[in-house]
Amino acid sequence: MVVGVLALQGSFNEHIAALKRLGVKGVEIRKPDQLQNVSSLIIPGGESTTMARLAEYHNLFPALREFVKMGKPVWGTCAGLIFLANKAVGQKLGGQELVGGLDCTVHRNFFGSQIQSFEAELSVPALASQEGGPETFRGVFIRAPAVLDVGPDVDVLADYPVPSNKVLYSSSTVEIQEENAMPEKKVIVAVRQGNLLGTAFHPELTADTRWHSYFLKMMSEVGEGTSSGGKGTSSGIVVVGGDNLGFNQQPKIDLPIFQ
Ligand code: GLN
Repeated sequence: MVVGVLALQGSFNEHIAALKRLGVKGVEIRKPDQLQNVSSLIIPGGESTTMARLAEYHNLFPALREFVKMGKPVWGTCAGLIFLANKAVGQKLGGQELVGGLDCTVHRNFFGSQIQSFEAELSVPALASQEGGPETFRGVFIRAPAVLDVGPDVDVLADYPVPSNKVLYSSSTVEIQEENAMPEKKVIVAVRQGNLLGTAFHPELTADTRWHSYFLKMMSEVGEGTSSGGKGTSSGIVVVGGDNLGFNQQPKIDLPIFQ
């Protein structure tokens, strides 16, 4: 088993390193014909405008759309989630092309600018029930998008309560002084629709490999023709080197973990 990782820009090396920790080989994808050598794809975080320009330059959009339509597992993290969404709103979109397929609307830079990037413990019951480990996952949000609405076939895997001292404007999150001026509002930050997985945060930047493991299980599910469900059943992970450790045996390393 090899997993393709779109390697135009952004955190593709970090995803390949996370896959390696699970004993799975990640291969860099930069050209349309390279997609024929892989049965699943990760679209990393980065800068979606830049990634879109490079994807256009390499004529990747038709091949990426075909890949999604064929029902092959695709996981978009952060900018990758924006790529997969049917609709994106927010700052500086500039007519940016999207791959689409994931029936949702994402808001780019939802939480604000770079200095408003943050980490948060997310409640992840669906992930924990399949992968084991704690009920929470440390989400690294770097100028992250949020999912504003989802279609009927989309499962919400995690949301994030936006603190009550923040007001959400159309382009960013702005701190305000008054206490309790707004009730707490939850925004969606992880979704799944059949073969498509989207996370607004960066699991590849943490030691916890459960989202990667979840995605690998999607590969075996889709291979078995049972892609529509939100939960995985069997693993089918082929070890190509390293130890394929369960969550509880994994070494616990503090952030940041990328080596
Ligand atoms: N804000 C970036 C964008 O819109 C995404 C940031 C990220 O991938 N960490 O492309």
